[in-house]
Amino acid sequence: MRNGLSKDLIARVLGGAPKYTLDELEEKYPERNLPEGVMVTRFAPSPTGYMHLGNLYSSLIDYKLAQQSHGLFLLRIEDTDTKREIKEAVDVVKNAMASFGFKHNNDEKYGPYYQSQRKDIYHSVAAYLLEKGLAYPCFLTQEEMDKIREQQSLAGIATGIYGEYARDRNIGEDEIKKHLDNGETPSIRLYSMGNPENRIYFKDFVRGSISVPENNEDIVLIKSTDRLPTYHFAHLCDDHFMRITHVVRGEEYFGTVALHVQMFRMMGWELPKYIHTSTLDKIDEETGKQRKMSKRKDPESNVAFFLQEGWPTDAVIEYIGNILAPGYEEAKLKGQVKSFWDYELKPKKIPTSGTLFDMKKLEWWAKEYIATMSVPDLVKSVVKWANEYGNENNKKQIADVQYLTSVLSIERDNPKRVRKDFITWQQTLSEVAYFWDFLFVPNKEYEYNIDALREFISGFDINDDKDTWWQKIVYTAEKLGLKPGEVAMNLRVAMTGRTNTPDLYSIMQVLGDTRVRERINMVM
Ligand code: GLU
Repeated sequence: MRNGLSKDLIARVLGGAPKYTLDELEEKYPERNLPEGVMVTRFAPSPTGYMHLGNLYSSLIDYKLAQQSHGLFLLRIEDTDTKREIKEAVDVVKNAMASFGFKHNNDEKYGPYYQSQRKDIYHSVAAYLLEKGLAYPCFLTQEEMDKIREQQSLAGIATGIYGEYARDRNIGEDEIKKHLDNGETPSIRLYSMGNPENRIYFKDFVRGSISVPENNEDIVLIKSTDRLPTYHFAHLCDDHFMRITHVVRGEEYFGTVALHVQMFRMMGWELPKYIHTSTLDKIDEETGKQRKMSKRKDPESNVAFFLQEGWPTDAVIEYIGNILAPGYEEAKLKGQVKSFWDYELKPKKIPTSGTLFDMKKLEWWAKEYIATMSVPDLVKSVVKWANEYGNENNKKQIADVQYLTSVLSIERDNPKRVRKDFITWQQTLSEVAYFWDFLFVPNKEYEYNIDALREFISGFDINDDKDTWWQKIVYTAEKLGLKPGEVAMNLRVAMTGRTNTPDLYSIMQVLGDTRVRERINMVM
């Protein structure tokens, strides 16, 4: 510990007197007194205008743990480190949250939830640390720090502001005043008392007991540039005063956890339980090998990709849920649970490395999911997607909802034999595109048996039931010495342009008398 600063000097150093004492903050943001086991989690994105799939992955853990423990899920915007257009960037996050059905429980009492609006809190805690001699103002300039870093690199030692390199660590009041009189704005640094030769022990909620070297860096708590907190300091203040019980975050934060444990202990605050998730891997299309997902190379690393292509968001959740809780798929197949929301996520089982996100597997979940939807729900989802993300053709396809409904009703009446060829809303519309004349491309390559088509259409009646319709195909076949299947194939290709389709009778019923006749004429 060093000498604490006087109140006056603290106010000068921080650019204003702190608004609260620590006791006042404790009172303003009291412990929540929740029953044992109830979890308070938060998703704390930095608004960059881009949401990584890894963020969705972590936030699902947050959301699920809160949901299953009847706790709270908070959304905190970490906007202290960005000069970007915040509103739009926050909308990206909010839109994703809404699309995946994550509702937050932000209540005014523990807010505000934008870090840029919590300056009073950070400054009040910083003031406490300055008073106690646990932090100090540092007037090192960028050039001076760069020089220190250079020296350290040359000497082959750890870079950073620590120990003897922390020039202002023991700076006295007079000198501080001199700098301030000079018009300089300091950063506020932690007065670290850690020694990397010692180890710090703590319990990670997933990884179990962990020991890491102590931190000796006098890291910046409050930046000199805008007097806003660094991530480390904001994490300490916010997760304490929002009374977060479980912090779920990417494994890239594992490297600084020693610092975070040190700060919580220094404050005498209870450490939240940490869940460090592993980064997501994928199977490389070229090499077939598992590798880290790349923001640059892999479109699916961006959550927006799933929304734009119209992946059923519930299926994405189901699949990620199964990655997090590998027993889920089996429980679901056995009919023990209906959705991931009914299945218990055991934090200790969350994978900690080599986590694979495989688009092929997601396809399976998506097909299964769509197969369980009712027709009205399916239609609603497709329409909603097309309105939001669809192209002009998609918009025309949804214009007549009744027709769309008939199209999407095909092979969905027998629960045991529901078609499973729909994967995304976009792909669904392109899969059934042939139902719309402006999208239908007649198959001119196919060698039609014109006699069969002519014979069949001469007796065709749209009002025939399926048996009668089939009898007419059989009759046509017999007459021309063909197999019924051959006649049906000719009809199928003429109607749809394809050799492989769902039930032909239903297709013709949906197309209707006029279209059926037109399409036969087109290939004659
Ligand atoms: N803003 C940080 C991020 O987006 C939050 C990390 C955390 O959850 O503590 O990575």
